[in-house]
Amino acid sequence: VSSRGCHKIRGSQIRELLDSKLNVLFDCDGVIWNGETVVAGAPEVVTLLKQQGKKVFFITNNCTRPRASYVTKFIRLGFTDVAEEEIFSSAYCSAAYLRDVAKLQGKVYVIGCQGVVKELREAGVPIVEEDTDAPTGTIYDYPLDPDVKAVLVGYDEKFDFIKLAKACCYLQNTECLFLATDPDPWHPLRGGRITPGSGSLTAAVETASSRKATVIGKPSCFMFECIASQFNLDPGQSLMVGDRLETDILFGANCGLDTMLTLTGVSTLEEAHGYKDSDDPERKDFVPDYVVETIADFIDAYEE
Ligand code: PLP
Ligand code: CA
Repeated sequence: VSSRGCHKIRGSQIRELLDSKLNVLFDCDGVIWNGETVVAGAPEVVTLLKQQGKKVFFITNNCTRPRASYVTKFIRLGFTDVAEEEIFSSAYCSAAYLRDVAKLQGKVYVIGCQGVVKELREAGVPIVEEDTDAPTGTIYDYPLDPDVKAVLVGYDEKFDFIKLAKACCYLQNTECLFLATDPDPWHPLRGGRITPGSGSLTAAVETASSRKATVIGKPSCFMFECIASQFNLDPGQSLMVGDRLETDILFGANCGLDTMLTLTGVSTLEEAHGYKDSDDPERKDFVPDYVVETIADFIDAYEE
């Protein structure tokens, strides 16, 4: 394993790197957009890379939307050439895992949001339908479905005690799978606020059940395997661009991809150097190979 450089690159150096790759994988929030605001130049970058013959993919740990809704978001933010097949979310990949890898024979108990529910339905994976009219009962008498064979935890703004209680009851059965869409601890919101991520809710379920979830999203390699199985990607020919060292950059390292940190999101250059200078060998996988200010720097790279 080569030592990762954390090299700040621009212009012709970016061009040389891109010329050596066939595939560019972009994380979304913090790279392509920040919430509902596009990163300036991102639509042009995607078009430019495609004109150069690159395959471009979007991999997001955000499980709140189904794929079709991401297509609408890309269009709304000014992208003209992003296809649904190029978008891999932790919700889409969780559904693919349950259908194709686990080959689940039974239902999924979902702590999550519409994005997760819609992707599971699309994949034909049965879920426990919550009867919203019925009284939820006390912790002694809420209903449990005997057909549940998996618990899937994702971002859920309606997370509550009963959901936690149900999940940990299902997980007492050691044959019941325990999956998490993603391990993200929190996400930035506007005005300096943050919101808890799926990882916070998963941590509660892990504690209550004394079990550890299998993570589907970044930094787990499953999302890369999911893309590679559909598009036959060679890791050595692929570049992962992300804004979070502990998820995106570690994901790239785990999958054998070259990695690039962009400074338009969560992690800073100082944090990257902190990991590089650390004595802990495990932290080396958080160090990106390359750093750019923004992916808009790719435009200059092709203009020079
Ligand atoms: N999950 C949720 C609920 C989010 O709001 C976000 C970012 O906005 C993410 C995950 C992270 O998304 P990404 O992997 O595209 O950075
Ligand atoms: Ca991100």
